[in-house]
Formats: sequence, structure tokens, C-alpha cells
Amino acid sequence: MADCLFCKISKGEIDSAVVFEDSQIKVFKDIHPKAPIHLLIVPKIHIQSIVHLEDDHNDIIAKLIYTAKRVAEEQGLKGYKLQFNVGKEGGQEIDHLHLHLLGGWK
Ligand code: AMP
Ligand code: ZN
Repeated sequence: MADCLFCKISKGEIDSAVVFEDSQIKVFKDIHPKAPIHLLIVPKIHIQSIVHLEDDHNDIIAKLIYTAKRVAEEQGLKGYKLQFNVGKEGGQEIDHLHLHLLGGWK
């Protein structure tokens, strides 16, 4: 979507601190971290939120979670939190689906 921040970050039109990227997913550091390690796992296709998921998105959701697991391993995290904020009432501020990976507490 033209005016979507995370679409622009996905395409590299806006800079981000990239941790992992492939053809479907980009992982970058949250600009206002709420944990010692706070990453966002973002599909490159524009899906607004969990509410907007359709049947043919199952593969990309599985891949988001598996990517979170792999990136967490690479970051040396033994435990962590994975969080989807869903809709304004659920604290979602950016209307492009993203999975928060939070960890690194002592
Ligand atoms: P949410 O509230 O679930 O929509 O989370 C959006 C997250 O995106 C927040 O934790 C923000 O700190 C983060 N964020 C906003 N703008 C940027 C940006 N340009 N680069 C990286 N993270 C961002
Ligand atoms: Zn988008």
C-alpha cells in the first residue's frame, strides 16, 4: 500500500535496522524498544492485521512464527515473548501486520 510505513520499510524505501530479510519477510529493530531486544517480524505483503487474515495467508503466518524462532536463536535468546497487537483496541498503531519479538531481560 502506497502510504503504509511498513510497506515502505519492506521495500527499503525507508531505512530500518535490518536483522533478517528474505523474499517474503523482513525483520528489523523496533525504533522505540520496549525490551532489551525488541524486533518486528513483518510480512512484505500488506495485510492490515490479524482481523484481516484470509485462508491463503496460513503459510505466511507460519513463516512469521518460524522466523521469530530462528531469529531468537541467532540473538541467543532462550526465552522471549511473541505478541500480535490486533486493532486499535488491542494497541495496534501500525496498520500492517507485524509480530513483536521481545526478550533479553536478565
Ligand atoms: P503496534 O503498536 O503493534 O502497531 O507496534 C508498532 C511498533 O512499530 C511500535 O512498537 C513502534 O515503536 C514501531 N515503529 C514505529 N515506527 C517505526 C520505524 N520507523 N521503524 C521501526 N519501528 C517502528
Ligand atoms: Zn503495508
